[in-house]
Amino acid sequence: MHKLRLLDFLDRDEDSLSGEERASLPTLPEVMYTQPNPDGSAKACRNCVMYATQRGQCYLHDPGLSIRPNAICSYHVYCPTPMRIFTSVIPMRPLQPDESRLRDTEGGAACEGCCYYAGGDEKGECMAAVGEWGEPAKVEAKGLCSRWECEEEEEFDFEIEE
Ligand code: SF4
Ligand code: SF4
Repeated sequence: MHKLRLLDFLDRDEDSLSGEERASLPTLPEVMYTQPNPDGSAKACRNCVMYATQRGQCYLHDPGLSIRPNAICSYHVYCPTPMRIFTSVIPMRPLQPDESRLRDTEGGAACEGCCYYAGGDEKGECMAAVGEWGEPAKVEAKGLCSRWECEEEEEFDFEIEE
């Protein structure tokens, strides 16, 4: 069913992509692909080590940004029990939401809900990234990368609290 926003964009069918066109697509490391969460959950701030639950803060973003538990960005690192509050903060330049691709979601993000995913409940292929020989990259249904796109994803509307 997800075939394929990329090919729609190119106005091409899958078999007609040339080797050169496939070679121009990124590899999985280049799009920061990560393996599924060990517990099989969808990836979201609520299971990220950078999240503090009490005020919806992310360690990498502006601490005044109130981020909902089901949001996701490209820097997710799995942790089953995020902190409630941060006990210390290192002075640093926070990531901007458009840099990290911070987005809100209904229930977290995974390849299986991505417009570029073609496959089954456990494994499939990604049409926005390639493997070693230029073939569609092999991914797991619960994996995720920074190119994730979904029809249902919500517009970014997080507010910074003063
Ligand atoms: S915004 Fe990104 S890094 Fe921050 S808590 Fe959410 S997923 Fe983790
Ligand atoms: S299917 Fe989507 S989320 Fe998964 S690797 Fe491909 S672009 Fe990234």
